[in-house]
Amino acid sequence: QDLSSERLHDIVAEISKEMADETERGKVADYIPPLARIDPNQFALTIITKDGEVISGGDAQTRFSIQSVSKVFTLALGLGRLGERLWARVGREPSGDPFNSIVQLEHEKGLPRNPFINAGAIAVTDSILGGFAPKEALGEILQFVRFLASDEDIAIDPDVARSELATGFRNVALANFMRSFGTITSPPELTLGVYFHHCAIAMTTEQLAAAGRFLAFDGRLSPGGARAISARMARQINTLMLTCGHYDGSGEFAFRVGLPGKSGVGGGIMAVVPGQASIGCWSPGLNAVGNSHLASQALEQLALRTGWSVFAPR
Ligand code: GLN
Repeated sequence: QDLSSERLHDIVAEISKEMADETERGKVADYIPPLARIDPNQFALTIITKDGEVISGGDAQTRFSIQSVSKVFTLALGLGRLGERLWARVGREPSGDPFNSIVQLEHEKGLPRNPFINAGAIAVTDSILGGFAPKEALGEILQFVRFLASDEDIAIDPDVARSELATGFRNVALANFMRSFGTITSPPELTLGVYFHHCAIAMTTEQLAAAGRFLAFDGRLSPGGARAISARMARQINTLMLTCGHYDGSGEFAFRVGLPGKSGVGGGIMAVVPGQASIGCWSPGLNAVGNSHLASQALEQLALRTGWSVFAPR
């Protein structure tokens, strides 16, 4: 249904206030110092509507590490570049395992279950890298994100990238394991360099909501606007976000929120309401499976109060 802009403003303000008052906030990621020192008492929510209206509450101007949300952007870039051939390198099934799990890789001959677990995202990054220099591939990813968000002021946090490089032993294992099967073809350290850096992109919820517009509007930056990818690919990515976007919490998120979404261990979630709106939400405290505790809760409330769901008849 169509909500008035006034009603949406009220809903965003109400939810932001409620989340600010929450005492149960989850636990901030502590595997690297730059994330471990983030203040958990932060929350932000931004909605960009089909009319281009930007509605924000909370700390919507604060930049945070988007981490695994970046996997959506690399998937879009990889799909745009390789098309259907990308699916020879990565599957499309929910894993039911944690985001950094290695167990399934051996049974499935080095083919990662989906592009949103770490193994799958590393495989997608490798396909973008192709024969190019890591710097070029990274530049291309960053340019693509800036284009999607219509915002040049988006950059990589060098502190986060350095820490990921220094501590990412599990990802090194995943990359080497996949290299042994030929799922990735570049030297693992080059692919990982690009992967760690795109995970270290920092954005605000306003920028994240802007970057998600192409998924809300069938591959275009606005209804009838510039095209980023084909409508078919945008729908495919949305489907994967609904089924795999929250790792082993994907079923729960789909059940509670009913919208395609992608989370990151920085506490961000990008979600879309096809045809209606793009959403950026952030709160650094995580639940047991590594998704933002309060951002999940806020999106559940938002879906409840707006009636937004991909399963609502339109
Ligand atoms: N950079 C993180 C990692 O590779 C991303 C994980 C995440 O956000 N779930 O472990």
